[in-house]
Amino acid sequence: MNPHILPSSQPVSGQAPVLELKAVSRYWGKRAAINNLNLTIKPGETVALIGPSGGGKSTLIRLLAGVLKPTQGRVLVAGKDLAKMSAAELRYHRAHSRIIEQTHLLVPQLSVHQNVVAGKLPLWPWHKVMASALWPVEKKPVHALLESLSIGEHQWRPASDLSGGQMQRVAIARALISAPTTLLADEPTASLDPATARAVTEIILNQAKERGVTLVFCTHWLDAIMHRCDRIIGLREGTLVLDAKPSEVTQDALNLLYQGSEELHEGNNERI
Ligand code: ADP
Ligand code: MG
Repeated sequence: MNPHILPSSQPVSGQAPVLELKAVSRYWGKRAAINNLNLTIKPGETVALIGPSGGGKSTLIRLLAGVLKPTQGRVLVAGKDLAKMSAAELRYHRAHSRIIEQTHLLVPQLSVHQNVVAGKLPLWPWHKVMASALWPVEKKPVHALLESLSIGEHQWRPASDLSGGQMQRVAIARALISAPTTLLADEPTASLDPATARAVTEIILNQAKERGVTLVFCTHWLDAIMHRCDRIIGLREGTLVLDAKPSEVTQDALNLLYQGSEELHEGNNERI
């Protein structure tokens, strides 16, 4: 992490914890979305998570975020089993492991500022939550963060005034304001046009690198992130069928991962 890259008033993330899955399965009915998965993600690692639809990517992301419990096995954060954490510890983990999704769920009638501040509410005592509803708090850090995402001038506009790409930047700011140690991006650019999607992808990658946070970036757009990540993980039917450095990923391995899926694309160099 290099905090000097960030404006001084921005939240700087703490040390990222190691994330581990030990023989984890997650069933929906009789079907395993994640099937006996063993995985260790190192602090600060940048991981591209790929694979055909229904392969279990979103389920894995939700397990890592601690918002979904495994049916079997253990999810460990810094060596501690999520299932054995106190309510306060689990709240802390969730507040520092932020999911950025395709649908950003902003409150359209609230200002950009209020939407960003909402990212901090889980960390605040009740009196600060009350205060934040009455008058704007954290004006400077929110502004610095929005500036770094090139939307500083929109701080006081209703979120509904913004374009899709700008709204996704607000959602990124809402995730970053709590100084997360883990960013879990679940197809965050799927609803954006290609140019905007590329810009938003760059922002997420750059912010993760600058802050030293762990990033799991789930996307079909492998070409955009492949060589910016430390590691590529491929999930198919809840099983890890690819786990390699970007330089080691072969077309054969991608063919196997996407076999029978319409999502496989020639040369893997176009957005799908
Ligand atoms: P991906 O993100 O790779 O497309 P998901 O993790 O969303 O895959 O889904 C994996 C499997 O789990 C799919 O078969 C999907 O239908 C199933 N699944 C996911 N979420 C639910 C749910 N809430 N209820 C029932 N089945 C689900
Ligand atoms: Mg998904």
